[in-house]
Amino acid sequence: MFVGARTDDRRRWVARLAATALVTALAVAARSAPSIPVLVFHRFDPDKPASMTVRMPVFRAQLDWLKQHHYRIVPLRTALADLAAGKVTAASPEVVITADDGHATVYTELFPLIRAEGLPVTLFIYPSAISNASYALTWDQLRQMQDSGLVDIQSHTYWHPNFKVEKRKRAPADYLAFVDNQLQRSRQVLESRMGRPVDMLAWPFGIVDADLEAAAKRAGYTIGFAYVGGPMKAGDDRLALPRIPAPDIAGDRFGDLLGEMK
Ligand SMILES: [Zn+2]
Repeated sequence: MFVGARTDDRRRWVARLAATALVTALAVAARSAPSIPVLVFHRFDPDKPASMTVRMPVFRAQLDWLKQHHYRIVPLRTALADLAAGKVTAASPEVVITADDGHATVYTELFPLIRAEGLPVTLFIYPSAISNASYALTWDQLRQMQDSGLVDIQSHTYWHPNFKVEKRKRAPADYLAFVDNQLQRSRQVLESRMGRPVDMLAWPFGIVDADLEAAAKRAGYTIGFAYVGGPMKAGDDRLALPRIPAPDIAGDRFGDLLGEMK
């Protein structure tokens, strides 16, 4: 009787120990899962704070923080390949810089730093605005940036629609035709203007669902990005990869946003 009770206690203790070990192992695995933060910028300003804007001194401080913490700023395609090949480790963390919407300050503020620092950057562009909207880049500026060898230009649809609103407004067949047109036309215009393959897409407002992913595949995209969601990991949905909106702050509060790398 006494021996039996002790055996039960021992079994319970062993079971508890196993459960604790499993929880610890899962926690370590979660922390050590290789991941790469893909930052999204929009506008840059020499010094004035504004919505969707990162001030240049803050951006430089963010670059310093990344350097101090041994992050390598890599081209988006390199990050995707390294993640797939399992090359990303806590000892050699990678980070990616992207900028959406084609705002003119990408050329006036960011591009000089891209050249000076050799920074690889991917721009997600909606062609209807280029050489057209007053706030936007021109085709000539895009070509200059691409010619630096540091800037990759990819699609952000043709005119940056809100697909949720369009879906409500349109009949189903009309909506699907509209989506196909937005995705295909952007790719065609960017490829013919820039002379480079376009197979990556950033979803406007981060809006993406199964129908949109199917349309992206039809239009020839292999990679798509949402707007939020944290660092990207191996095994994430490749047509809705997460990104991290870049804040107008530097230092450790900026670092905290990049997610756990260890
Ligand atoms: Zn956008």
